[in-house]
Amino acid sequence: MSSLLIVNAGSSSLKFAVYNLPLAEGAQAVFRGQVDGIGADARFFVKDASGDRCHDQELPKGPDLEAEHQAGLDALLDWLDAQKLTLAAVGHRVVHGGANFAAPLRIDASNIEELEKLVPLAPLHQPHNLRPMRTLMRRLPDVPQVACFDTAFHRTQPAIAETFAIPRAITAEGVKRYGFHGSSYEYIARQLPGVIGPRADGAVVVAHLGNGASMCALRERKAVGSSMGFTAVDGLMMGTRTGLLDPGVMLYLMDTRGWGSKELTNLIYKQSGLLGVSGISQDMRTLQESDAPEAKEAIELFCYRAARELGSLAVAAGGLDAIVFTGGIGENSPAVRAGILAHLGFFGVSMDAEANNTRGRLRIDKSDSRVALAVIPTDEEWMIAHHAQRLLG
Ligand code: ADP
Repeated sequence: MSSLLIVNAGSSSLKFAVYNLPLAEGAQAVFRGQVDGIGADARFFVKDASGDRCHDQELPKGPDLEAEHQAGLDALLDWLDAQKLTLAAVGHRVVHGGANFAAPLRIDASNIEELEKLVPLAPLHQPHNLRPMRTLMRRLPDVPQVACFDTAFHRTQPAIAETFAIPRAITAEGVKRYGFHGSSYEYIARQLPGVIGPRADGAVVVAHLGNGASMCALRERKAVGSSMGFTAVDGLMMGTRTGLLDPGVMLYLMDTRGWGSKELTNLIYKQSGLLGVSGISQDMRTLQESDAPEAKEAIELFCYRAARELGSLAVAAGGLDAIVFTGGIGENSPAVRAGILAHLGFFGVSMDAEANNTRGRLRIDKSDSRVALAVIPTDEEWMIAHHAQRLLG
């Protein structure tokens, strides 16, 4: 059986999905899994299409992180071999495509160098995204690889939506708003007409709410604005990331505590968001189950911040015909959806509480709502698989 492997490699994990070829619209992955805990107690596990764990393996400690990443990928490839699956291609999720890569890219030795040059734009993610490409080039030189960029879908944004109010010379270096979660938004944009009809081509704001969270303004199903900016830390409050933060706060902490980039990176990426405000957890489900007032405050702030960003993106979209929720929180938390929409009544938003509480309902607006309200499960891996198949014929 000929298969497509989709890889999403992070700093301490490598998530993957396997699809059978040819890939049908809406096809489910036949396997999903991950290598977890690289650098600590690494494990490799796989779930089959029905979500049952069909493989679980402890990985030995390596001499360094590099070796452990490599061992994780080797374990995955050995397992694929053992299943008698033949890889026709590999698709990679890559966080940054910079200003130039606006479409999926077939990887070769020369353009991997180009992607390397973008590491300073996403130092926490890009090196991990690129590592498996090199390993695969060595181990499976005949298997074509395709990179899909989180930033690519946003390259239709008008210049004004991308520009910070900073000196032109710094903007010219590439310091501008890129936007992320692009494969998710592209997938949602494909599904929109089937769920909200002709309004799909109007002004739509999509909220991708997961551990990482962002919103995207669409017009004619193309991106015209994003809550995320130069990096994936801007915009909405997230699991552990601040979202929008007055840069003066960082100057204050540098001056009063002597903090440098290491401490500030920890603050804005790892210690803030739901975790920082609640002091309990970064996980929305855990906070919803908690009775602590701090958990409630964190959820309220999450919803309030999301509603404020949504207002801003309605300006970018030039109106508000529809709001779409997706991502782990957006798809699964009726309370968060209701909490965000409660701030938006003046837009003519009217939510059907019963539909909102019914799992699997795609539409959650009342018939008199001026704004269509939808919940659409995203599938970033399918989107990447689709591009890989298309690009490689
Ligand atoms: P990532 O950005 O890592 O892909 P996900 O999209 O998987 O994240 O979203 C993870 C978030 O979704 C977590 O905060 C988790 O608590 C939340 N979540 C998942 N299921 C539920 C649920 N039933 N109710 C509330 N939150 C949920």
